[in-house]
Amino acid sequence: MKFICNGMLGKLCKLLRICGIDAAYSNQGMAILLEARKENRIVLTRNTRLQTKKGVFFVQTSDPAEQLKHIISEYDLQTLIQPFSRCIECNCKLKAVDKTLVRNNIPYFTYKHFDEFALCPNCHRVYWKGSHYKNMTKDISNLLPNAK
Ligand SMILES: [Zn+2]
Repeated sequence: MKFICNGMLGKLCKLLRICGIDAAYSNQGMAILLEARKENRIVLTRNTRLQTKKGVFFVQTSDPAEQLKHIISEYDLQTLIQPFSRCIECNCKLKAVDKTLVRNNIPYFTYKHFDEFALCPNCHRVYWKGSHYKNMTKDISNLLPNAK
């Protein structure tokens, strides 16, 4: 299941990616419909002009954590949640990497204290389950049984 979030839903988009769910982002107005059809994505939006279009899920609430919960239950995504598997910035699938490979890209403290690292093959951002990760998942911790 793949999604595309429109301009007003940047935070929701990131939360979906934190959950490992494929979520593209577009602020192209009505053109989002074409983009969605091309890549077989469901459009998530709060834009009332898009509300009645085919393949569109209209998001009722303005709170990103609530939005996420709605999407998860509407599309039955609970079993697909896989935190730490997708880049928050570019939606790319992360690759687990040995820590020696990212040694020069991370602070020494991080290198010393963490063992699980993942790399985005697209933007080369390095991820690990440190305090930043914990902050990101705080909003959605009740949806993330594996993220303890
Ligand atoms: Zn990336």
